[in-house]
Amino acid sequence: MTDIDVVVIGAGQAGLSSAYFLSRAGIDSVVLDRSPRPGGAWQFRWPSLTLGAAHRVHDLPGLPMGVVDMTRPSSEVVSEYFAAYERTFGLPVRRPVTVRAVREGPAGRLLVETSAGDWSPRALINATGTWERPFWPRYPGQETFLGRQLHTADYVTRDKFAGRHVVVVGAGASAVQLLMEIAEITTTTWVTRRPPVFREGPFDEEAGRAAVARVDARVRAGLPPGSVVGATGYPVTPQVRAARAAGVLDRLPMFDRIVPDGVRWDAAPAGHGRLVRAEVILWATGFRPVVGHLAPLHLREPGGGIRVEDTRAVLDPRVHLVGYGPSASTIGANRAGRTAVQHIRRLLGAPMAA
Ligand code: FAD
Repeated sequence: MTDIDVVVIGAGQAGLSSAYFLSRAGIDSVVLDRSPRPGGAWQFRWPSLTLGAAHRVHDLPGLPMGVVDMTRPSSEVVSEYFAAYERTFGLPVRRPVTVRAVREGPAGRLLVETSAGDWSPRALINATGTWERPFWPRYPGQETFLGRQLHTADYVTRDKFAGRHVVVVGAGASAVQLLMEIAEITTTTWVTRRPPVFREGPFDEEAGRAAVARVDARVRAGLPPGSVVGATGYPVTPQVRAARAAGVLDRLPMFDRIVPDGVRWDAAPAGHGRLVRAEVILWATGFRPVVGHLAPLHLREPGGGIRVEDTRAVLDPRVHLVGYGPSASTIGANRAGRTAVQHIRRLLGAPMAA
């Protein structure tokens, strides 16, 4: 078992930002990441996801991304940027290392059990994101469906969908994007629980702040966080205008049940029949925080979430969650890393920043 001041779990935007501020503060730390390469969850995103109209990655602290080719997959661009970042600052990233559990350790320390041995830190920064916990809603009849069901986390390419009718479920950016992409090669139906949000103008910062405040209030109350990135609305691009004109973005309310050959409403939506036959259901229904390895610390509240103030777990101030709840965006993750390290400096009694 290795004694250390701080273990960071995860080397995505949130983990790297934390590692940068820890290194600047001279705090002895290690970053454990189970992904095979630098890039956090971005390395796993589908090849047609590029940075530009709908997606933007904020610069990590201390090293701008610089000019990038917006036509290249973000999985490549971000992985290269994160790799350069780790190298430039000599960040102590170890991969692939899976953290299996975090529990109470000896002498007031924590115990981090991993695939590469145990660490015993005085404080922990959890930066494990959401990618590895795709959320699948449950609908009656789901197990009877004879076609293919997949989540955005499984999506690689539309190629296999040609000639098959695809139902896309979800109102967020991934749903809109994949719907438009798939509709170029086959027929589609779009189904959402809430009406989707599009924006004509630039990103509304006030709406963004309101979304962060809403999610912050939820995590302070110990509730499951909800999404901050979903609140920004999808920009009306030329592709959106074309898809609208073609009827691709005509959305139906959520169906009531799944049947072997499609999806069914109990009462027919206006202008439609009660059944849409389909061979594929694509669930673009979001993700939940990856926190199962923290279970032995018993941080979960009766409301189902971990109560977090700033970045600190209220039930255990040695534990910080970054990229969680209000900080689950690339800009939020940056700030959360700085905040967590400020708190940890005080906890460890290290001298304050100049
Ligand atoms: P991640 O990037 O998910 O990194 C977590 C890391 O932790 C991974 O490398 C993982 O392997 C590792 N890990 C997990 N569990 C363990 C374990 N037990 N042991 C060891 N390692 C572990 N935000 C924006 O600001 N702009 C956007 O355009 C945008 N687009 C998005 C598009 C999609 C499809 C999705 C799903 C999200 C998007 N977001 C966007 C949100 C954004 O990607 C994240 O909030 C942000 O990148 C912060 O990531 P992170 O560091 O918290 O987690």
